[in-house]
Amino acid sequence: MKNIPILMYHSIAKVPKDSVMRSLHVPPSRFALQMSILKTLGYTGLSLKDLQPYLEGKKKGKVVGITFDDGYRNNLTEALPILSKNGFTATCYLISNKLGHYNDWDEDKGIARNELMTITEAQDWLNAGMDIGAHSEHHIDLTNCDHQTLEQEVLQSKHSLETTFDYDIEHFCYPYGLYNNQVLDTVKNAGFITATTMKRGRSEPMTNTMLELPRIPVVHHTLPHLFLMKCFTKYEDKRG
Ligand SMILES: [Zn+2]
Repeated sequence: MKNIPILMYHSIAKVPKDSVMRSLHVPPSRFALQMSILKTLGYTGLSLKDLQPYLEGKKKGKVVGITFDDGYRNNLTEALPILSKNGFTATCYLISNKLGHYNDWDEDKGIARNELMTITEAQDWLNAGMDIGAHSEHHIDLTNCDHQTLEQEVLQSKHSLETTFDYDIEHFCYPYGLYNNQVLDTVKNAGFITATTMKRGRSEPMTNTMLELPRIPVVHHTLPHLFLMKCFTKYEDKRG
């Protein structure tokens, strides 16, 4: 396959019908079905760390990237057992200054509180063979802050996660998917190898810049037929 889909998930949880932004929660049963569809079709779900050689064109195979933004506790409790059962890996993008807290940046939108992994929990995620990346220090819009804050958010998130977990942090995810040339340069200079966006589409090895990787949003209402179309047809590529 020429194009590599990188899936974007947030929360894996069952939530009531009237929740604000319910779409960000994928019920565990639906996530399990999506992973088993991939497995049945002969695909392997991979973290960005494991996907990197495929993106660079150094390896070829039936692979799909799996990412989780923000680092919700339910990624560990709900998604991890399903990933492990299928022999898959995934990347969780952590907000370095909010480990053990909750999604307070969403509060003014009326989005319900959702707990983020603590340091111990994120360590459990890593110990299970999963990968972590950085999602800034405070989950702010990096295109709308002064240069010093930008540098701090990008560099410090890398440094702080590396120190806390004694693990190389080489993969970044732009908060809200927002970036511009200045943000891109900062992420590049910080030493990140890849960065994922919220631009929609699949990644073409050696064509896409590694710091502007498009993804495929998987949300609450992504039923199996749509999931298949998103992963394996041009459906998302045309939405870029
Ligand atoms: Zn986020």
